[in-house]
Amino acid sequence: MELLRKLEILADAAKYDASCASSGTEMRDSRDGKGLGSTSPGMGICHSYAPDGRCISLLKILLTNACNFDCLYCVNRASSNVARARFTVDEVVKLTIDFYRRNYIEGLFLSSGIIRSPDYTMEQVVSVARKLREEHRFRGYIHLKTIPEADEALIAEAGRYADRLSINIETPLEASLTTLAPEKDQRAIRRTMGRLRLKLDETAEAKKTVRRARPPRFAPAGQSTQMIVGADDANDRVILSTSANLYGAYKLKRVYYSAFSPIPDASRALPLQAPPLVREHRLYQADWLMRFYGFDADEIVEESEGMLPLDIDPKLAWALRHRDRFPLDINKASREELLRVPGFGTRTVQRILATRRTTTIRFADLARLNVIRNKVLPFIVLSDHRPQPSLLDGASLRARLRPKPQQLGFGF
Ligand code: SF4
Repeated sequence: MELLRKLEILADAAKYDASCASSGTEMRDSRDGKGLGSTSPGMGICHSYAPDGRCISLLKILLTNACNFDCLYCVNRASSNVARARFTVDEVVKLTIDFYRRNYIEGLFLSSGIIRSPDYTMEQVVSVARKLREEHRFRGYIHLKTIPEADEALIAEAGRYADRLSINIETPLEASLTTLAPEKDQRAIRRTMGRLRLKLDETAEAKKTVRRARPPRFAPAGQSTQMIVGADDANDRVILSTSANLYGAYKLKRVYYSAFSPIPDASRALPLQAPPLVREHRLYQADWLMRFYGFDADEIVEESEGMLPLDIDPKLAWALRHRDRFPLDINKASREELLRVPGFGTRTVQRILATRRTTTIRFADLARLNVIRNKVLPFIVLSDHRPQPSLLDGASLRARLRPKPQQLGFGF
């Protein structure tokens, strides 16, 4: 099979992995000579974030989309009727180097279906990274998907070459994984996550204590995982509490949420419809609240509802449920309290704290602080502003703050 055809199949097969933000866009190209650039057919170039926060382009592909496993939610499962392809190790290395030299990409995201055995597959994945690093002195970003059942030594070796390692937890509930992916074992997945965490901790510790010899490198960008949303009946509260457990127990850098997309010839155990994409978006916002805003998983979603509202963001929803905590005097409130004000991001809070060291913040200062005034004014007190109690307590506040519906494009 031609390399280009393999690339087409194996880049398309990798698109369900959520660790990039470029999928789902409209198809555009410049083959008619008008304009520059293309989003179709994609050919596996996606975007991700480097440890320093830079957005980088990655070649995102599978080594093969053949797989011994038959996970019901996966288009690459053994029983799926899709075109199959497999790269050799050298082909992936060549593609990565060629794309890198042409400035198409800054790194590689490599995953694979499981062929022959988890060890054999992992060895192939590691060989790509080893060749890139050792034979080609490749210094770009490498993200490798780890096969949980693979030998510990192989996973340790993967960490020597990769910037980031990830293992998909797949479903929020262990029971769903048993139904939807019977060959997978969530305990094995968690065991491997635990081992990665130990290696990451050891490396961090060695960096602090070993002064002269540099400790062996191990996945400096840490580990991440992906959870499928909407393939089982786990609600948002369950999903967020699973994420909180994963962040706490395994020090994950990120949990990615991937809205389940119906696949051809799907099992009856799967829903017929994809969840609304905005649900995935709300989960990312809630995840952000847990990681950077000091929220606990179980206070973000109302227990009796179980789901995040889709029409407003989770922080606003929390504030509307806790109106007794507002209005907050932003000239006196603590950092933790300020972070809970709808419309205040972490940078805004930093700016507020810095500004109020030298002056009292007034209404006119809000523009300089880059604050969306309509959103925050019902919740804050300034030296020259106090919201009417009827505004904060009124039933219409939610409707006032809800984003206005937008007209979708007609596609012509
Ligand atoms: S092991 Fe991975 S590639 Fe194979 S069927 Fe399951 S999810 Fe798909």
